[in-house]
Amino acid sequence: MTAAVRTTGLTKRYGPVLAVDGLDLDVRAGEVYGFLGPNGAGKTTTLRMLLGLVRPTAGSVSVLGDTGGSWPSPALGRVGALIEGPAFYPFLSGRENLRALARRARVPDGRVAEVLDLVGLAGRAGDRYAAYSLGMKQRLGLAAALLKDPDLLVLDEPTNGLDPVGMADMRRTIRGLAEGGCTVLLSSHLLGEVRQICDRVGIIHRGRLVSQRPIGELGGAGRLSVRADRPDEAAAVLRRMLGPDAVLRAGEDLHLAVDAGMAAAVNRALVTGGVEVSELRWHVPDLEEVFFELTEGSRDVV
Ligand code: ATP
Repeated sequence: MTAAVRTTGLTKRYGPVLAVDGLDLDVRAGEVYGFLGPNGAGKTTTLRMLLGLVRPTAGSVSVLGDTGGSWPSPALGRVGALIEGPAFYPFLSGRENLRALARRARVPDGRVAEVLDLVGLAGRAGDRYAAYSLGMKQRLGLAAALLKDPDLLVLDEPTNGLDPVGMADMRRTIRGLAEGGCTVLLSSHLLGEVRQICDRVGIIHRGRLVSQRPIGELGGAGRLSVRADRPDEAAAVLRRMLGPDAVLRAGEDLHLAVDAGMAAAVNRALVTGGVEVSELRWHVPDLEEVFFELTEGSRDVV
């Protein structure tokens, strides 16, 4: 598959701070790629280097198949980005703001209505920007990034600050854009978010790439946790039921590698086996736990 973005040894040093350290990223054409890491990991700096806003200290960037020889990439005209709160005129409407940007970018005026539709803002396009909710402002920023009908969209924390409904809307919009053929590279510090929206993920920590893989291979997808009055007996019952490898003892808790839908059957088996269950819950690991798994238990990671 063609690469939409490829970086080789990409590095940025700010004085004593090594913000990005030898990054080899590989974003494939047509996918939604999640660039995941905690605050300060180096995500924004990396995206800014891709977009020609920050000069790399070392390494190279190739965008949309350019040869990677020059920085900034000559292909940036085919890239749309939402990287920092875009500046809009507060007293103009969303539509008027986009028209102004379209004129400046020599984009036909008809494209404005198309992008408003794409981001679901057509019904409120006549309202003043100052009256928009945060979610609507983000949508307008996305619409602006889409004006040039880009082949690659780069979004820095696109759901940051949105409420759950706004986040779900934004996720739907991004998936829709990807289905329309646009490659999306987005950064996030939320594992659950990336799981819901991305095809592949690159995890960055302290400027280094810890892992890059399809989202389904990230591990830590979730497990059933059981607390019972007699954990030894409970473990024996469940190992007979599910096989020895599906049951992990962690102190008083038993972690089961099964689907959430197995909860009732697990409960029934334990009660039938004479074990009383005090707690049965579905546990989804957070970013910290996934880091822990990926780095095989180095407590130093997060
Ligand atoms: P966040 O989600 O908090 O924005 P991030 O993963 O995007 O985090 P960056 O903003 O890229 O991380 O920052 C990475 C490191 O580089 C941090 O230690 C940050 O303090 C440092 N840094 C970023 N920009 C500069 C700058 N212009 N001058 C000095 N240090 C910087």
